[in-house]
This record gives sequence, C-alpha cells and structure tokens, in this order.
Amino acid sequence: MDHRARFAVDCLHKQYPEPDRLPEDACLVFVRDRGVCVRKGSTEGSTKGSTPTIFQAAFPDLPGELKRDELTRDARYLGHRGAVACYAVEVPGDLPLPEGLAYSGVRELAGLVPDGELAVAALAVQIVDYDRTTRFCGRCGAATEPVRTERAKICPSCHRIAYPRLSPAIIVLVRKGGSILMVRGGGAAPGRYSLVAGFVEPGETIEDAVRREVREEAGIAIKNIRYCASEPWPFPDSLMLGFVADYDGGDIAPDGVEIESAVWFDRDHLPVLPPQLSLTRALIDDWIAASAASAASAPSSPSGDPAAGGDAAGDGRSSSQSSAQDDRSASRINEGR
Ligand SMILES: [Zn+2]
Repeated sequence: MDHRARFAVDCLHKQYPEPDRLPEDACLVFVRDRGVCVRKGSTEGSTKGSTPTIFQAAFPDLPGELKRDELTRDARYLGHRGAVACYAVEVPGDLPLPEGLAYSGVRELAGLVPDGELAVAALAVQIVDYDRTTRFCGRCGAATEPVRTERAKICPSCHRIAYPRLSPAIIVLVRKGGSILMVRGGGAAPGRYSLVAGFVEPGETIEDAVRREVREEAGIAIKNIRYCASEPWPFPDSLMLGFVADYDGGDIAPDGVEIESAVWFDRDHLPVLPPQLSLTRALIDDWIAASAASAASAPSSPSGDPAAGGDAAGDGRSSSQSSAQDDRSASRINEGR
C-alpha cells in the first residue's frame, strides 16, 4: 500500500558525532510546551507570498532580550538539512515573540507549512520532551549526559543509557465479505468510528497484538493478517503499524468499557471518515478502491454478504450518523498512555 506518512522525517539526515558546539549558521526550531514557533508567511514587499516556516534563521532575527548563548545552552541536535545543522531549542513560556513569529500546536500546522517541516516540528517537540524526561537516571538518580555519537543519554554513575521512547501500536482493518469492522470508544462523540487499534505489549509479536486487540475490542477472531504500511505518530511517541485481516469467526461483542460499539460497515454506508493522510484513512481508502475494482469486475454479482451494512452491535447506531472525526484510534491510544 502506498501511504505518505506525514510525520516521517525525511528532510533531515543525522550525522554523528553531532557538532561539539552549536554552529553559527545553525537552523533552529523553537519549541514551547508541545508547540513550535512559526514564522508567518509575508504578503508584502520582497517576501510576498512566502510560505510560513518553522525554521528560524535564528540570530539576526532574534530580539535583544533573547541571548543566544543562554537560549541555546540546551539546544538538541535534530539532524542536518543539507549542510546546515538543525536544533530544537526550548523557549520559556513567558518569552515575548518578535514581530512575525507565532506559536502553534504541531497538528495545527498541517497544510500550512511544507510537509517536511511538519515532520521536523513534531520531531523537535518529541526530542525536547525526551530531553526533559531523561535529565536524571531512572535507575540511580544521577544527572545524565548526552551521548554525542547517537541519540541517547548516559548516566555517568551507573552507565544506564536512555533512548527516546518509541511505542509501537497496531491499527487493523478487518474485512468480512463486503464490509469492514469499525469501533467506537466509550466517550467518543456520536457517530465517530475508527479502526481497531492499540499498543503492542511486552512479550507479543506484532501479529499477536493485532489478534488480541481485535478480540478485546470486538470479540471476534481474525485470520490472514497482512502488513500494509507504517507511520510515526509522535503524540507523544507512537509508531503506528497498519494491517489488514479477514474475519474468522465469532459474534461481535464489544467490551462495553473501552469500546462501546463495534459495527460492520459496507462501502455505501461508511461513517464520516478520519482526515486524509492518516494511516486509518489510507487503509480504508485502499479497501474502498479494491472493493470498487472488485465490484466493477463482477457487475452482476452484488455483495454476497447479507450482513453488510446492517450487522450492528453495541449501541446499534446508524452508520448514517456523522460528525467531525479525527484520527480517533490514535487519540485513544494517546489517551491510554
Ligand atoms: Zn544511573
């Protein structure tokens, strides 16, 4: 399956050992809380029509109160953009911003800055968070030190190494005849459905996790598990792994706690879908295309699945209900961490 992972950082390459000192021409990404600083696109003068950017040509542009050395003491290396080293720099929450700069949450930047920059913005937030949460050794409590030859911190006392946390999570589109399984979490807005998703647990293979999540969330067995695509989802640190699988038995039985409703939807009665570009949406779009191609190749043979579109369980909500829908599977995962 062809899926463009919008938070995959492909415009930076890492060079280790990282530079000893912050280079004069370094490119900075300013991070505050879980957002980044954006230079707004200009509509005037020589920069007319310029695109908003998260990369700051830092020093000539910084106001007097932003002292370079002070601000960049804890700059975190992100990688090189061409020949220029890029760093994330955390700025104090009360620091006033110069004209033309504004803070933004990372997801709100989708479609506003170039795709590569969106991914770098997410990486910058993620790395600043990693840095904040690994300042002291988790085993002995000593202050950690950065490792210059890889993205890691080491404890000088007990030598424990801390890497950025990465949480693998699966998302799976389950097929049954001409329908797919979608689920609705407890507390989700009416009409919001997504695919089964969840974190991989210690001791599991990825396939075990797919089977377990479908069994836990919908009560059914599956077979023919096939990997499709992956996507970094850095909110805060997931790596989403997308699969398709086929129904293999059992009746839908949502647990009523995490999942309040699980429903087979056919192609003509899908709920409001998650945004374009999400892995959830890519899996569904891929299935829609395959299912349309299959229908076109056998026009005299309508869906042979009598359950299609009507085999609802749980709250029995109609698939025609709609609401604004985000990539809820991922947000549920986030909430669970
Ligand atoms: Zn230690």
